[in-house]
Amino acid sequence: MSLKINPVLCRAGVMDNYAYIIIDEQTGISAIVDASEALPVIRKCEELAIKPQYILTTHHHFDHIGGNEELKERYHLQIIGPKAEEHMIAGIDKGLQDGETFLIGKAKAEVINAPGHTLGHVLWYFPEDKALFTGDVLFNLCIGGIFEGTAAQMWTSLQKIKALPDDTNFYPGHEYTAHALAYALRCNNNEVMHTYARRARQRLSEKLPVAPVSLGIEKQCNPYLQIEDERVFEQYF
Ligand code: ZN
Ligand code: FE
Repeated sequence: MSLKINPVLCRAGVMDNYAYIIIDEQTGISAIVDASEALPVIRKCEELAIKPQYILTTHHHFDHIGGNEELKERYHLQIIGPKAEEHMIAGIDKGLQDGETFLIGKAKAEVINAPGHTLGHVLWYFPEDKALFTGDVLFNLCIGGIFEGTAAQMWTSLQKIKALPDDTNFYPGHEYTAHALAYALRCNNNEVMHTYARRARQRLSEKLPVAPVSLGIEKQCNPYLQIEDERVFEQYF
């Protein structure tokens, strides 16, 4: 229970992706979640004085795997991703399916299928460390677009996230909070949302990620997690 999570902003000002460098502090074993691009990740690894052993990929889009090959060559690491998207993920070594687990040192990750944004999209869930990497399914105060799947699939994926413990912190694949704030504030004119917005604006003004936010807070503020009726949800798309 000692996973250290370091966000790395990639494609800054263009797509504002996050790669995350995660370190199991018990063993020193480390991994990158969604290697969007190589250079900012390498810089951060040098700053942290680590050599990552793995990349964990959420889905095949280029802005989540752009650094795979260069990082693999540099660190001789192994790339783990969704089995269903194996053929589309550069450098992949191992595909995993829903419910399978993978160890980063002693930190246990579970794969959760979450189709909608892409058909094979997975979440990387570390139950003991109370951390969830949501790729392009869940962002702060908004959700990912539906590119390959259906609204019904996205709905089911979001319900899986909602079913996880409230004290789980989530780590999204992009920093889109600034764009999502206005609509979320319109939907939720209450104290929890105002506190969220104040903190988010403060963090963004310091060029810090809004993540992590707990799922408990997110469920109270993210308009897309608040829709109780699947048919209403589907009308958004
Ligand atoms: Zn994507
Ligand atoms: Fe993306």
